[in-house]
Amino acid sequence: MTKDQARKRAEELRKEISEYNRLYYVENAPVVSDYEYDMLMNELIGIERSFPELATPDSPTVRVGSDLKTGPAEAAGEPREKEFEQFPHKYPMLSLGNTYDIGEVESFGERVSRAIGDDFSFSCELKFDGTAICITYRDGVLFRALTRGDGTIGDDVTENVRHIAGIPQKLSGDGWPDEFEIRGEIYMPYKAFDRLNAERERDEDPPFANPRNAASGSLKLLDPKTVAHRGLECTLYHLLGENLPFRTHDEALSAAASWGLPISDKRRICRSIKEIESYIEYWDTERKFLPFATDGIVIKVNELEYQRTLGYTSKFPRWAVAYKFKAEQALTRLMSIDYQVGRTGAVTPVANLEPVQLAGTVVKRASLHNVDQMELLDIRIGDHVYVEKGGEIIPKITGVETSMRDGSETLPVFPDRCPDCGTALVRDEGEARFFCPNTSGCPTQIKGKLVHFTSRKAMNILAGDATMEQLYSLGLAKSPADLYDLTKEDLLRLDAWKDRSATRFLKSLEASKKVTFDHVLYALGIRYVGEATAKELAAHFGNIDALMAADRDALLQVEDIGEVIADSVLSFFSDPRNTEEVARLRKAGLQFAMNREEDHVSDTLNGMTIVISGTFSISRDEMKRLIETNGGRCGSSISGKTSFLLAGEKPGPEKMQKAGRLGIRIIGEEEFRKMLDMTGRQLTLFD
Ligand code: NAD
Repeated sequence: MTKDQARKRAEELRKEISEYNRLYYVENAPVVSDYEYDMLMNELIGIERSFPELATPDSPTVRVGSDLKTGPAEAAGEPREKEFEQFPHKYPMLSLGNTYDIGEVESFGERVSRAIGDDFSFSCELKFDGTAICITYRDGVLFRALTRGDGTIGDDVTENVRHIAGIPQKLSGDGWPDEFEIRGEIYMPYKAFDRLNAERERDEDPPFANPRNAASGSLKLLDPKTVAHRGLECTLYHLLGENLPFRTHDEALSAAASWGLPISDKRRICRSIKEIESYIEYWDTERKFLPFATDGIVIKVNELEYQRTLGYTSKFPRWAVAYKFKAEQALTRLMSIDYQVGRTGAVTPVANLEPVQLAGTVVKRASLHNVDQMELLDIRIGDHVYVEKGGEIIPKITGVETSMRDGSETLPVFPDRCPDCGTALVRDEGEARFFCPNTSGCPTQIKGKLVHFTSRKAMNILAGDATMEQLYSLGLAKSPADLYDLTKEDLLRLDAWKDRSATRFLKSLEASKKVTFDHVLYALGIRYVGEATAKELAAHFGNIDALMAADRDALLQVEDIGEVIADSVLSFFSDPRNTEEVARLRKAGLQFAMNREEDHVSDTLNGMTIVISGTFSISRDEMKRLIETNGGRCGSSISGKTSFLLAGEKPGPEKMQKAGRLGIRIIGEEEFRKMLDMTGRQLTLFD
């Protein structure tokens, strides 16, 4: 390679890697496998070694990938990420040198021996596949939690971390230093990951590619209560602080465990490469039985003094290395592609594969995501394709073995008409998926909508998918509103339905008329309006008329609502078929307003006007409702009539100053909650 060629390639690689970093760390939606990414990085390292003059100070080879957002981003269907406050790290938070080659682990051991002699040990640990966290404890109390960020500055996710099970707010035992940092990994166990993706698929939100991305996306959600429901867990693996009284890393972790911190019991002290190898070999098999994802083994010099001697590069500690497991792959043939229509009309290509054994299961189908992904892979029917389980759960096609083509392969043709109803498909600007616009006539969409409408988190009507299918095929239900016109005679036409089942169903329909407005809104199935968004909209607007009258600006005022969701709501209500459906459902007696009367919790705040500022442990809309349901009124600006300023975290300086000037009392969330608590009433509304 000439120097010019090297320069050109290095530039290409830096650009490509930077884009993959953004997709992985910021969007949580990687498009290449870790292995492919690591191979590109190795190529760049190789070029920079051969041509040191081409190295740049901002090359991804010398900087950790940053998860800090640089511009507005809104993942479709996921509440917008909060702009977190950022704080500098006391000690830089770096990455780890990694290898897929056991020989390089050996070289690492030799390098260490050359620097510090032979009298040392290694701590071998699982490499948890999640997102890094740095937690500071002060006087035994959780003080702050920061993400890795760009290694020097991290996002303050303290409130979210407080909602993760297993992370103590207060330490137990004794002997903890006055102040220390402990670092570790927030991860999402497979079970929680499966549950989340099933929900997202049902809501037609793009599923997370793997538990790592799900964990890091969840950690940066706006609402700590949603974080609490995501089932995140944590394991901690590195204690840092001034003048810590420990000789080894292992001693420090044992002490941390005695203070109630979650420390893995799977670590082991090894004294030779042979012992490290057998640890790796053992976990390469056993990790498949763990309830969470791991992507390798971390090998660390155990003695803290030697760690200090070995030090750091700008990107890695010199005293540790990660041995990474290659994701299991299988090679098989692509037989055909199905184009499936979902409830919102999105058309998803699904690959039918020659059945193949992969990580303990037989894989027959794999997702191809969308037409762009198919083009990126340049995939043909009859191709031999590589299948991986993203985070070892959802099979996906990661590559095509073009060398095995024999000319018989055919280019797949993405349909231009709906495979179900034949309507011409459309693709909105910026949307990766094609949609069937025939929302009220496409059978699959109608059945999907009925199933969604009746589901537990929506109207909670006791009926399965098969019942909806039959109601549709018998011409008894073409839209959710039709359900409320059903008679017992109609229901007795369903296969094997008797008086009892019909009565039960009718009772359940009747009960659904009491389901609160936020659930009804979710049940309408507006694209991108998942459960959390429906709650925000319901709390903010209070009733459907106000929501339907809202323009784009009014919608954008709602916390967590970005342009994608706002446009989707506008487009939904601009369709007369939808407004007619709403009118019919309303006539049937469903709740289209938050029942403020019924929500009346107490008179504690009667006659008070309260101005709120800053962020709270619940959203601002929920806080406003909390005030109103306890008899108070929310004021928008401070005046002589304001009873008090309720200040959350980071309150607006102007409001604080004005309150000070006018002598208005300022109270914090805790005091406010105590004030309400004294009446012994309900504190949060949406549990
Ligand atoms: P890394 O994930 O390879 O290793 C460092 C991280 O390991 C630490 O920050 C820590 O969070 C974690 N870790 C887990 N268990 C640990 C333990 N017991 N002790 C210490 N640390 C532990 O490094 P990274 O800088 O976070 O990410 C780089 C890697 O991410 C790449 O090598 C690549 O595999 C992957 N990546 C993939 C893409 C993609 O598009 N597929 C893009 C960017 C990065």
